[in-house]
Amino acid sequence: MCGVVGVFGLEDAQKYAYFGIYALQHRGQESVGLAASTKEGIRAIKKKGLVLEAFSEEELKSLSSRVAIAHVRYSTAGGGIEDAQPIVRKMPFGECAIAHNGNLVNQIELRRRFLQKGIELMHLSDSELLVAGMEEGELEPKELRLNSKDGEELRRVFHALSLAKGAFSAIYLFKDKLIVARDTMGFRPLVMGRLKNGFIVASESCALDILGAEFWREVKPGEVIVIDDYGLRSYFPFRESKRAMCIFELVYFSKPESFVFGGWVYEVRRKLGEVLAMEDDSVGEIVVPVPDSGLVPAIGYSQARGLSLELGLLRNHYVGRSFIEPTQELRDIKVLMKLNANRAVLKGKSVVVIDDSLVRGTTAKKIVQMLRQGGAKEVHLRIASPPVIGPCYFGIDTPSKRELIACQMSIEEIKDFIGADSLRYLSIEGLHSCVESAQEFCDACFSGNYPMSVELPQAL
Ligand code: SF4
Repeated sequence: MCGVVGVFGLEDAQKYAYFGIYALQHRGQESVGLAASTKEGIRAIKKKGLVLEAFSEEELKSLSSRVAIAHVRYSTAGGGIEDAQPIVRKMPFGECAIAHNGNLVNQIELRRRFLQKGIELMHLSDSELLVAGMEEGELEPKELRLNSKDGEELRRVFHALSLAKGAFSAIYLFKDKLIVARDTMGFRPLVMGRLKNGFIVASESCALDILGAEFWREVKPGEVIVIDDYGLRSYFPFRESKRAMCIFELVYFSKPESFVFGGWVYEVRRKLGEVLAMEDDSVGEIVVPVPDSGLVPAIGYSQARGLSLELGLLRNHYVGRSFIEPTQELRDIKVLMKLNANRAVLKGKSVVVIDDSLVRGTTAKKIVQMLRQGGAKEVHLRIASPPVIGPCYFGIDTPSKRELIACQMSIEEIKDFIGADSLRYLSIEGLHSCVESAQEFCDACFSGNYPMSVELPQAL
């Protein structure tokens, strides 16, 4: 999971990109990068850690430009700061930088192919392949009429994208333009907004809000858009495919106030809680959300059951999200740092605690302990999504089956492991009922039905 932002046509575009990517901090906390088309060419600065602490005023000034992109990373491939994004590449026909959210499932094949053709690769990240592929050739689909303003750069982007299989919501930065692309299945969200005479592109609409930009529309699955001083030109260079928008974005990843995949995340998330309540027959007295991602489904749940919603767990907002940290050790410490039980509401109560998902079970175990220590008489854990039974290959770093608790234990065993009095998940049918056109979503980590075949390293 990553967040991307692109800004075109605004004075100090790099500053807008910086604040835009700050609004997407929840999508990645390992590293942050900014790239801009400056007087000296395309320049990038990448840092480890959080956005607000990453750049000095001087560094931001050094990227002064009318066109810029930014990226926050939570890596699925490639680990060090050198593999952080945006990745800049100098090519015979010019230079380019990319900010990519997603994951290519044929990266081993592409890596081999490019190396055989003498196309140098300098990063472990699959995102580099989306730029390196431009060096291999050009593509102008016969049925497509290119605008006279578009030429080699766009044809090379088409070629690189035609080789890529998997998930990409990507923003290419050139000297005087952005090229924006979303894969034909539409795995990851990407939205566009307008600000003064400029354009903003971002993973989620919450980034437009922070900039005061007006939401315009989503980039459509399979769409490639050129944004330059002539305006905006939209292309659909590839054959349409079935859609596979990531349903986990709605369950957990995207911010509740964002508009993605044709709807408000908040509304879907509240509905998850309502349907969970309708499927449930627990006898709790109060509903307690696990902050922050359990909050919206808990609202839906409490309203549907007529139970009062209480803040039985409070969050320290200066600690990041636990699921997103790369090692188990760090995750455990962070759970304890970030939550505290509220005795004032828990004491002697039978509590229905709502979380968005249950992945490894280690966080849930600590939360149940915390609620009991806080005085809860009974703890009934309710999960506003089905059991996670498979890894994601499309840009989310869910763990391997070995670490997924629902692959290792029955629901009864999980309940005992985490120490809850009862445990219940939302059904897969319930999940589907919360979105319009469920068949247009990927739910592979819950159902095991992957929308495309995946090239696994162990298969080679
Ligand atoms: S496997 Fe799960 S996390 Fe990955 S794209 Fe599909 S729904 Fe999203």
